[in-house]
Amino acid sequence: MSQTLAFVGLGNMGGPMARNLLKAGYALRVFDLSEDALASARKAGATVVATAAEAVTGVDGVISMLPASRHVESLYLGDNGLIRHIAPGTLVVDCSTIAPASARTVAKAAADRGLRFLDAPVSGGTAGAAAGTLTFIVGGDADAVQQARPWLDAMGKNIFHAGHHGAGQVAKIANNMLLAIHMAGTAEALSLGVANGLDPKVLSEIMSKSSGRNWSLELYNPWPGVMENVPASRGYSGGFGAALMLKDLGLAAEASIASGSPVPLGELARNLYSMHCQDAATLDFSSIVQLYRKQD
Ligand code: NAD
Repeated sequence: MSQTLAFVGLGNMGGPMARNLLKAGYALRVFDLSEDALASARKAGATVVATAAEAVTGVDGVISMLPASRHVESLYLGDNGLIRHIAPGTLVVDCSTIAPASARTVAKAAADRGLRFLDAPVSGGTAGAAAGTLTFIVGGDADAVQQARPWLDAMGKNIFHAGHHGAGQVAKIANNMLLAIHMAGTAEALSLGVANGLDPKVLSEIMSKSSGRNWSLELYNPWPGVMENVPASRGYSGGFGAALMLKDLGLAAEASIASGSPVPLGELARNLYSMHCQDAATLDFSSIVQLYRKQD
């Protein structure tokens, strides 16, 4: 018999992830604060309900994909929080990128009520979410990871067990700090070349076959028109919001303070994103190139 899952948070990532679960044959009970997100999930075959508490009623598992720590803590632990509505023994998988300490807090509160919890942040962007090729970086008990594996397989290609509760978040934060650094570096290099007379497509091709090659350059090029099907070529819409990147760089800064491990380039990237977010917070994070580009 096919399983029924609750899915809360149907944004740029959660929407396509939920669609892949539906395609794989799972029945979904879904909730989001956005009517548009709910309408498109309904169209894809999900059962839309009026509250998160209703979504988790009678399900075999719960998946959430929310913006930040405060949303996740409030969903599970706030007034009328979900941990009071989910049946004991149920596995909860939070795929949001949040502070490791928040993930541990929710995991502990869940365990106190007989629930199982995994932090399972993802990498691969909206394209990976749509294609079902995400990388899941999971923290929690090994047997819970095994239980979640078929769900994660329906949404992704690589599943890593990083360690205990919160470990998935630590790995994800380190990855995204590096992503911000190479995105800003790529934007800077392209801007330098273009300001000195080069065609951004030609320069991208050269660097892709040279030692400057990296994911931002080759798969998510920030310069408009260089690459099809990336946010830069659709007005920086529908990708990974600059405000979410700034949030992740804040998490890296917190982890740096907590551990005493310096992150000078991460801090520089955080300052760049902080300036950029003053007027471009909702654009995709590759729009950082606008800080460098001479506007025509
Ligand atoms: P998003 O802002 O597009 O979507 C978040 C969704 O959560 C929205 O639809 C919002 O209405 C909903 N929401 C917020 N609070 C809610 C609540 N209390 N109950 C129900 N729904 C609620 O964000 P996104 O781009 O989908 O990112 C989600 C998470 O994934 C973030 O933690 C982000 O850092 C991470 N992430 C994003 C990407 C990306 O490329 N967009 C890639 C990897 C990881």
